[in-house]
Amino acid sequence: MKDNYFKEYPNKDGFFKEYGGAFVPPILEKEMKKITDAYYAISKSHHFISELRSIRKHYQGRPTPVYYCNRLSEKYGGRIYLKREDLNHTGAHKLNHCMGEALLAKHLGKKKLIAETGAGQHGVALATAAAYFGLECEIHMGEVDIVKEHPNVVRMQILGAEIVPVSHGLKTLKEAVDSAFESYLKDPETTIYCIGSVVGPHPFPMMVRDFQRVVGIEAKEQFFEMTGELPDKVVACVGGGSNAMGIFTAFLDDAECELHGIEPGGRSLKYGEHAATITLGKPGIIHGFKCYLLQDEKGDPAPVYSVASGLDYPGVGPEHSMLKDLKKIKYDTINDKEAIDAFYELSRLEGIIPALESAHAVAHAIKLAKAYPQTSILVNLSGRGDKDIDFVVDTYGLPK
Ligand SMILES: *Cc1c(COP(=O)(O)O)cnc(C)c1O
Repeated sequence: MKDNYFKEYPNKDGFFKEYGGAFVPPILEKEMKKITDAYYAISKSHHFISELRSIRKHYQGRPTPVYYCNRLSEKYGGRIYLKREDLNHTGAHKLNHCMGEALLAKHLGKKKLIAETGAGQHGVALATAAAYFGLECEIHMGEVDIVKEHPNVVRMQILGAEIVPVSHGLKTLKEAVDSAFESYLKDPETTIYCIGSVVGPHPFPMMVRDFQRVVGIEAKEQFFEMTGELPDKVVACVGGGSNAMGIFTAFLDDAECELHGIEPGGRSLKYGEHAATITLGKPGIIHGFKCYLLQDEKGDPAPVYSVASGLDYPGVGPEHSMLKDLKKIKYDTINDKEAIDAFYELSRLEGIIPALESAHAVAHAIKLAKAYPQTSILVNLSGRGDKDIDFVVDTYGLPK
């Protein structure tokens, strides 16, 4: 989008229209201001930019390819392409912002990185960044997710991170964020909270978006080089919304590109059985920012569920909330069953095992391909599915 979009949103107080901001306790206000000022200064510094570029190229293995799905397109119609963030080091898009956040932490003289994790992808990415920069790392994770995402727990431990199990509430992502915030509040001077998506108080939604923009910038250029045009439709799954913002930001100005954000429809769209925040939520405040929010009758965050641990969050990025109101992005849902089917389809037709989160985007792309056989569809394949294989096979079995 035009440069002034990024200058305008968020505004200096971190608002995307009415969403975002920084609703934090007084001791964090000062700290958030410090991080914001440091980020504004550093993100313009040649030294910071070239260090991050070099990390992306030599350490992360960027640019990740765009791949045309021959057999999937043949079977369902359309022309389906994948932006292969599953090939980014550590197997998902999350390292894009973790390396940025950790580099900023190093410049701020922080000693320890603290974060939550759902599927464990953010925890692994942050533990990786901590190892790279020689920082300590503390990861908060719900006990339900610890069981479900066991391989990622072991990876984090191998990388040297300390895992803090969270045993209250639903024992998943929202509680992990609560717990990580509490830990950060104890010592905001020497630690920094590295949030895992385009959520949380200002400046995190902006910073994480900016660090993820590389995905869209690369993908647009690669797609154009392969086809001589822009994609008709761009599809990404939306948990907090970082992989979606990463790819969508490159196409916001292109009226001919339709953007599709896909939320987890879970078991059903009944209360407590999904995490379709934008589709069914109402504006509210969670974890220090305003956004669409799934709420109970008291206005507190509602219980949420998805087969994909990385998607089950009752809030969503403030920028998505604004773009929904502006009708710039179409939001839709894919349920557990459709995601599992797509998980196996992509594995068996293309030899690519997607993360369950990403399988939601693939499932929607398949629907679009069936409905519009002439269109080109670019999917952000946000991560690989190795972390999910035991869970999927144990729970759903192998397809016939
Ligand atoms: C964490 C994660 C997501 C969801 O997070 P967003 O911020 O919405 O991108 C999606 N896909 C994968 C593979 C993840 O690890």
